[in-house]
Amino acid sequence: MQKISVRAHAKINLYLNVVGKREDGYHNLETVFHSIGLHDDVIIRKQETKEITVHCEHPGVPSDASNLAYRAAERLSDAVGGIGGVSIEIKKRIPVAAGLAGGSANAAAVLHGVNELFCLGFTQEVLMRFGAELGADVPFCLHGGAAFGTGIGDQLTRLPALSDLPLLLLNPGIEISTAAVFNKLNFSLTKRENAGIIIRTHVEKGDVLGVSESLYNFLEVPVFAQYPEIAALKTELSTQAGCSGALMSGSGATLFAVMHNSKSARRSESHFKDRVSFCTTTVTSPVGVYIKD
Ligand code: ATP
Repeated sequence: MQKISVRAHAKINLYLNVVGKREDGYHNLETVFHSIGLHDDVIIRKQETKEITVHCEHPGVPSDASNLAYRAAERLSDAVGGIGGVSIEIKKRIPVAAGLAGGSANAAAVLHGVNELFCLGFTQEVLMRFGAELGADVPFCLHGGAAFGTGIGDQLTRLPALSDLPLLLLNPGIEISTAAVFNKLNFSLTKRENAGIIIRTHVEKGDVLGVSESLYNFLEVPVFAQYPEIAALKTELSTQAGCSGALMSGSGATLFAVMHNSKSARRSESHFKDRVSFCTTTVTSPVGVYIKD
């Protein structure tokens, strides 16, 4: 086999609370992740030269060693003392720096795809450990489906995936640095002790209404303070016919809405699509990375 194509699925956070700052500068979180149908395609090929190369047409995605996909291939190569040349082509659909873990999903796809293409034989557990070295969201992107995350988001407990839940995603075209958002947090506001357990129970029961009513993201506070237009967009999204709940994903700026059905999702998509830089309907996905061929 010379080539493998992997779907790298984006994630949303149905719940995200920051429970404290650690001595290493990172923050401890409680979060409920869910994979969604929106995905990049990552095509990995063996190549004659010994280098790792990355190609992506999106102007916001680096093609050098700072690309998370590059670093994932390099991590596996280092682990086995060299794998030879690899070319990585990324067909980007997931908006960049948007709270949807696009870079992390690409890294997860490379860990999974390179492991298969070069028959390296690493277990999922070891791949997730390598992933955690690259970024907090990479383990979840490998895990996929639904999970409750603690630590920096890398300690995962599997939850049953919500099946084909209709979603609408909106991004107003504001790229947000995750680090900048975390630096602005005010911990006197974090008082949501039981909320994580409540939404987790709703997901376990497959109670969509309960999930929709318990959506919460503490990072909305600093992001909405800096960008009131995102807060206004969320209010408008929440009041769409057929919307049972709306939230910002991760550190933003992407907003998502849980919709009653695909028809109401498409109707709201038409309402917003000419006014925002990114707007799409999708559904929850049971997988994070998926080998196409
Ligand atoms: P997270 O929620 O995990 O912080 P995000 O969805 O907010 O992720 P990404 O799309 O992963 O953000 O992009 C964050 C930054 O990472 C971008 O500014 C980009 O320059 C850099 N980056 C590195 N590799 C990639 C990649 N493969 N795809 C997208 N961005 C990448």
